[in-house]
Amino acid sequence: MSRLPFCFSIDFEDYTHDYKRRFGVPAKELNVDSLWISYEKIKSVINDLKVTNGVTFFTTGILAERVPDLVKQISDDGHEVGCHYYHHDPVYLDSVDSIAQNLDRAIDALSKASGQTIKGFRAPRFSIRATDKDVYKEIAKRFEYDSSFVAGETQNSDSLKEYFLSIDESLNEFPVYAKKSFAGKMNFRSGGTYLKFFPVDMTIATMKEAHSKGFMPMVYLHPYEFLSGSEFWIPWRDWSALPVTKRLIPYARQIQCLKVKNNSVIPKLKYIFRRFDHQGPMQNLLSKAG
Ligand SMILES: [Zn+2]
Repeated sequence: MSRLPFCFSIDFEDYTHDYKRRFGVPAKELNVDSLWISYEKIKSVINDLKVTNGVTFFTTGILAERVPDLVKQISDDGHEVGCHYYHHDPVYLDSVDSIAQNLDRAIDALSKASGQTIKGFRAPRFSIRATDKDVYKEIAKRFEYDSSFVAGETQNSDSLKEYFLSIDESLNEFPVYAKKSFAGKMNFRSGGTYLKFFPVDMTIATMKEAHSKGFMPMVYLHPYEFLSGSEFWIPWRDWSALPVTKRLIPYARQIQCLKVKNNSVIPKLKYIFRRFDHQGPMQNLLSKAG
């Protein structure tokens, strides 16, 4: 039987800087050395997987602004550079005006660093609500495709296409699919923490269900998930700006992203690549979308 198609992509962001911002810890510098280490690791994994057609790196604008050489390297290595907003902040918290400014600033930095025309967008943590049509209109003004939407069992590719036509006919949506799991208690997505914490067969089942509904199965990962050392760890001393009660939980929770089961990710990815056929960077899907 021929293998089902899928797209593998990376959401390329600086965990250390983003996590500090999220919890109000002063964050100035990016963790440049660890970003390079993570990229070298991703590169070696991609080589092992014999990916010759490249993948999409949805990259934050601040990363392109501060570490342009890294974004240029990603582009020189044959990958697509997409946009992952300016900061790794939830899009729905920003006004439409501020979203437009953030997108423009990110596109400018990403295109300058990569030399590419930036065609695709994915919101950090898929943080655009389905009903935020004004936000999708801003995305449609700037990109050829979006991958921020989380589709579910009540949708299929036809109904989603119709929905996006009602927003802006020029925007192609390549959603990430969430399968109802654990008796409907969890919307299981094929990537990130879900891939890491749960048996790989749950990811496979999600990808198959996505395909059965006419969606391209997507698998996404982040730089820190390829490492299990202390590269992106934020040390206790950096949290001193927060009262102790406010820093205990986020400090301890880093372990969930940076350590627990991170060493299971690469074998699981290899398992998926043996069973599915990677389609290359997501911009390749545009010609098929018509
Ligand atoms: Zn992200």
